[in-house]
Amino acid sequence: MIDQILSATTPDGNVRAFAASTRTLTEELRRRHDASRVASAALGRLACGALLLATREKEQARVTVQVHGGGPLGELVADADSAGNVRAYAQDPQVELPARTTDGKLDVGRAVGQEGYLNVVMQVAEDPPYQGMVPLVSGELGDDFTYYLAQSQQLTAAVGLGVLVGPEGVRRAGGFLVEVLPFTPPAQVQALQRRIEGLKSVTELLMQHDSPLFLLEQVLGVSPTHTVAHAVRFSCPCSKERFGRGLIALGPDELQALADRGEEAELVCHFCGEKYYYSVEDLRALRQQALGEGR
Ligand SMILES: [Zn+2]
Repeated sequence: MIDQILSATTPDGNVRAFAASTRTLTEELRRRHDASRVASAALGRLACGALLLATREKEQARVTVQVHGGGPLGELVADADSAGNVRAYAQDPQVELPARTTDGKLDVGRAVGQEGYLNVVMQVAEDPPYQGMVPLVSGELGDDFTYYLAQSQQLTAAVGLGVLVGPEGVRRAGGFLVEVLPFTPPAQVQALQRRIEGLKSVTELLMQHDSPLFLLEQVLGVSPTHTVAHAVRFSCPCSKERFGRGLIALGPDELQALADRGEEAELVCHFCGEKYYYSVEDLRALRQQALGEGR
């Protein structure tokens, strides 16, 4: 099954909801970063959360979510857009932690840490980007996205995220975002809250049926209407040329010095692990470009 995200509303129009199944892209994150089980879970949850935020914008949107929790994974960053592209990295993706003793689940909260913040930078269409930052609630990320939507966006919303990792790789990954529109009767809001609190975990639901529609039906308690599905995928737009822009920014003198020392440059993309090599000739060519731009 391909990864996809589904947008929908309840038949009464009071609730907007989004759900995603993201196993393939989470497995790609795991593989590209050689990530531990707990890091794969954190990266998969963050990537799915970023995709859900980008998808709820009605226009073309790009979002960067940055999490600093003070935990052993270090900084985590995910970039997503409303066309369904996402990439993510953790500073130390090989760190592994023992499972939680309470329920045997991966200890994402401890791996991410709880002493820090979640920062969202959103760019919608041609509008200037806006930024919202909230302190972390648990480092489990689902709760933290929920808190961000409440605090920073003043939304009555809930986010659930989950990743199940087996010894062979990622078995299930996905999540949902449910948003109550203004003027919804309070009794309906409370009923939905109780329903979400009583739900099985996202991964248990996806194990039952690996489908965003099934996830939404379980969350909402009704069959949603106006469902629109689109594919989501891992994608990193990096290239030798883009990284070359960074080298040009060093300036002609520094590039000359590198080339004179006969040093080749190797740059690694944090997001996808791709390596780019710049030979001495490449550096000289970049120096020429830097000279041209300095004029
Ligand atoms: Zn890349």
